[in-house]
Amino acid sequence: VSARELVVLGTASQAPTRYRNHNGYLLRWDGTDILFDPGEGTQRQMLWAGVTASRIRVICITHFHGDHCLGLPGVLQRLALDGVTHPVDVLFPASGLPFFERLRHASVFRDDGLDIRPVPVHSDGPVIRIEPSLTISARRLDHEPETFGWRVEEPSSRRMLPDRLAELGIEGPAVGQLIRDGILDIDSRRISVDDVSSPRRGQSTAFVMDTGVCQAATDLAGDVYLLVCESTFASSEQALARRWRHLTAADAGNVARDAGARLLVLAHFSQRYPDVTRLVEEAAAVFPSVVAAADLERVAVPARQKGSERDRGPDGIGTGTASGT
Ligand SMILES: [Zn+2]
Repeated sequence: VSARELVVLGTASQAPTRYRNHNGYLLRWDGTDILFDPGEGTQRQMLWAGVTASRIRVICITHFHGDHCLGLPGVLQRLALDGVTHPVDVLFPASGLPFFERLRHASVFRDDGLDIRPVPVHSDGPVIRIEPSLTISARRLDHEPETFGWRVEEPSSRRMLPDRLAELGIEGPAVGQLIRDGILDIDSRRISVDDVSSPRRGQSTAFVMDTGVCQAATDLAGDVYLLVCESTFASSEQALARRWRHLTAADAGNVARDAGARLLVLAHFSQRYPDVTRLVEEAAAVFPSVVAAADLERVAVPARQKGSERDRGPDGIGTGTASGT
């Protein structure tokens, strides 16, 4: 069981279908769950997917079209029902504050124990940091109304190199001391942790919903491990995509390729495609590492590749706060 995975709750753009719920994507990252764009029916989809609302720590809303937010009241009331007392940050475009307020108080329920913290986002950049080491940042996309894409990222860390340690005769508690202090004096030599470790890129996920073709989407997804990207239309409907500022599957492939993403997950499908095989094929023509999100399925955040171009160095002990594989 992957500790870092995407649980797909719904994939329908605009209107749900018999096979696709409104949007809803739960990113599970070790002990922290981040819910993106809870569309209508998200609470029940979570039940079907076998995940509980009580681990949700952050909710990110890209924009306030109904297919991306109508499930928020249900999820919040479920948190109250489950007696969740930890804070839950809700990130959303600042101009959508009135809509957030309505959804927050959409009906009568007992929410005196609930600690919901609205985080209206005004501009690009880091928004919150979740202890111990996750950062969520925002990037404005090209859609109407105001829309932000999200990026979840752990910091880079360092990977200890056993060969180098052995060469220098550093072992046992001395390794721990070197990691802790960053330096170690041994045989009248000073060893820096950089001498015996290599950089290790942190894992990351980007979430690009409802946007026309724009550089911001590519920037947001730069070198990301997992890219969840809207793919409303097939190429045959490209004119519609341009008109309504959405992406085709090929556009999503372009974003993934240009960003250097590891894995692309297509999502947010128009109801005109009961079968999205064609969309996967169109994206794969540009970027082969692609799958289509399907309701209630899970997609693991790709593992770091050992010794690869992107992440050199043998396995060892991370010296940063990052964890996972
Ligand atoms: Zn939408």
